[in-house]
Amino acid sequence: MKRPVYLDNHSTTRLDPRVLEVMLPFLNEQYGNAASRQHEFGWMAEAAVEKARTEVAGLIGAVPSEIIFTSGATESINLALKGIAEGNGFRGNHLVAATTEHRAVLDTCRRLEEAGFRVTRVPVDSCGWVSAEQISDAITPETILVTIMTANNEIGTIAPVSEIGRVCRERGVLFHTDATQAAGKVPMDVASLQVDLMSFSAHKMYGPKGIGALYVRSSKPGIRLTAQVDGGGHERGMRSGTLNVPAIVGFGEAARISLAEMKDEMVRIRALRDRLVTGITSQLEGVHVNGHPTERLVQNANMTFDGTRADRLMMDMKDIAVSTGSACSSASPEPSHVLRAIGLKDDDVLASIRFGLGRFTTDEEISYVIGRTVETVRKARSRASGRAHNESLHANSVS
Ligand SMILES: *Cc1c(COP(=O)(O)O)cnc(C)c1O
Repeated sequence: MKRPVYLDNHSTTRLDPRVLEVMLPFLNEQYGNAASRQHEFGWMAEAAVEKARTEVAGLIGAVPSEIIFTSGATESINLALKGIAEGNGFRGNHLVAATTEHRAVLDTCRRLEEAGFRVTRVPVDSCGWVSAEQISDAITPETILVTIMTANNEIGTIAPVSEIGRVCRERGVLFHTDATQAAGKVPMDVASLQVDLMSFSAHKMYGPKGIGALYVRSSKPGIRLTAQVDGGGHERGMRSGTLNVPAIVGFGEAARISLAEMKDEMVRIRALRDRLVTGITSQLEGVHVNGHPTERLVQNANMTFDGTRADRLMMDMKDIAVSTGSACSSASPEPSHVLRAIGLKDDDVLASIRFGLGRFTTDEEISYVIGRTVETVRKARSRASGRAHNESLHANSVS
């Protein structure tokens, strides 16, 4: 078993070796520009891109022309939110999001507020769940877009996307979902979900970093999306710039593999995740599992260890790569806005660890992580109670 054990698959995933294999020729001899229409190099690159586009579309039940390649989910989200806001400002100036959205959504919303838009942030319940009724109540005649993440990157809670989609459709409001954690992990079909726009990324599903997609429904007339990157008119004018052919090819293969293996993978990873949670909670008191009991990603286990500090636990078990929350905000180590939104007190937020399992997680690794976590939490707690004991002795001697 290799160490550290990687259990931070919500931050990013290992490139599947099969994905690397199909990418290699495009990093080497097949270096054509997919926009070069006049020679063989360009034709080969374009054919590879279109094959990948079909595979990425297939993962979510879309048609290839509904996929815009971007540099990742952050860019897709920016394009969706800013592009819809700019393109529909004449219809209204109001957007709806959940408080637990990823920073890519929340920061974009803030930027839109600076530009004069209004954003309603809908609170979630203690499981991180937001209901279609809440969304319906938040919609006003001014609302142009609702954006709700499919699955949360910290606690794994999966939103009732199809019900929210139905509400949005009834009210004539566009619906975007940040599906970065869900794509390739849970079955998704844009038609039955009634989603108008969807953002996702290759590196969260065993593909390369720096490539993502925005799905834009084509069967719906008049989705006015304003491009955010202008240039040579690539991607139907919605996102200019020479296409990252090797990454796109890898994204396609990652999507193909995820779709083909999703069912079996969900069963296998769910069993590992459940064993991890039971293994830890059966041996330790004072452990709480955050998120939704049933509507959650099988890859996710977010746990609060009462009376500990997660950053210190992680220092004491450097042979396990886990996280205290979203890596994207760890540059500014504030307590997680998601754990706060589900009602955790700051002490509990700071005592929480996210375990993110993935395709390459093994049985042996889970056994090791259970043992190490139990041992580390016990040590930390006995240190803390030793400290408390000393402090009370000291207090007694002073008084
Ligand atoms: C990782 C992530 C993003 C950002 O994706 P990038 O491709 O890294 O830009 C956005 N939303 C969620 C829910 C994520 O997990």
